[in-house]
Amino acid sequence: MNRPQMTRPLSELRGPVRALFSDVDGTMTTGDRIEASTYAALERLGEAGVPVVMVTGRPAGLGYAFMKMTPVLACVTENGGVTFVREGRKLTKIYGVPPASLPEWRRRMTDTALEVTNKIHGARLSSDSKYREVDLAIDWNEEVSLSKDDANTAVRMLTKAGFLASRSSVHINFGPPHFDKLSACMTVVRQVLGGDGNDLSPYCYVGDALNDAPMFNGFPTSVGVANIKQWWDELAFKPAYLTERPEGAGLRELIEHLMKHR
Ligand SMILES: [Mg+2]
Repeated sequence: MNRPQMTRPLSELRGPVRALFSDVDGTMTTGDRIEASTYAALERLGEAGVPVVMVTGRPAGLGYAFMKMTPVLACVTENGGVTFVREGRKLTKIYGVPPASLPEWRRRMTDTALEVTNKIHGARLSSDSKYREVDLAIDWNEEVSLSKDDANTAVRMLTKAGFLASRSSVHINFGPPHFDKLSACMTVVRQVLGGDGNDLSPYCYVGDALNDAPMFNGFPTSVGVANIKQWWDELAFKPAYLTERPEGAGLRELIEHLMKHR
C-alpha cells in the first residue's frame, strides 16, 4: 500500500471525511498544552458530526483521562498498546497484546531500558512511563535533550532486543512488536465507526513527526501540520497534504477546512 510521495497544500483536500484521527503532541498541542481555540475547534467538529479520535504514544492513564474529560470518541494510546472506545455510556478498553502476557513483557522491557540508559549518557525512562500499561518510553527530547544520533542508537538497541521502537518528537516508545497505531485505528473503525477496518479512505489522519509515517502510509487522506517539515528528509512516508501553520494552529486550519467540506 505504498502511496505516491507527493504532498499537496491542504486547500486541495476534498472532503467530506467521516472522522478525524489526530496525533496529540505537536499536532493538538502547541508548546505543551492544548490551546483553548484548538479545544473549541475539536468540539465544533465533533458537534458537526465528524468525531475525533486521539492517537498518541502517551500512556493509557492519560487516555483514560482524555476519555473522561473531553468529547473524543476514542483514544489510541501507547502507540496502539491500549485503545479506549466510547460505546454509548460504556468505556471499553482494548489491549494490543493478551493482558496475561503483560508482566513478562514488562520484565524484558525494563531490563532493556536499563541497558539503553547505561549506554547512552543522559537517556532515561520518560516521566510518564509510570502510567503505562503496555509500552515504555525513553525520553530523548522532553525533559532531557539528546542528539538525534543518540536517539537513533537507542532505537537500534531496542529494535535489536526484539521490540518495536519508534521516535516521536519527544520520546522513543518501545513495546511488544504485535501492534501499532495503524492497526489500533482499524480496530476503532470496526468497533465504533461502523466501517470496514481495512478501508481507511473515508477518514483523515493528521500528525507532525517521524512516528506518524506509518499512518501517512495507511491513511489515503493524511495531513502533516507544518512543523513536520523539520523531519521531512527522514520521513519514510510523507503526508498527502500539508498545512501552512504549525502545531495547534495547523490542526485548527485543517478543522476549518473540513468544516467547509462537509
Ligand atoms: Mg506528535
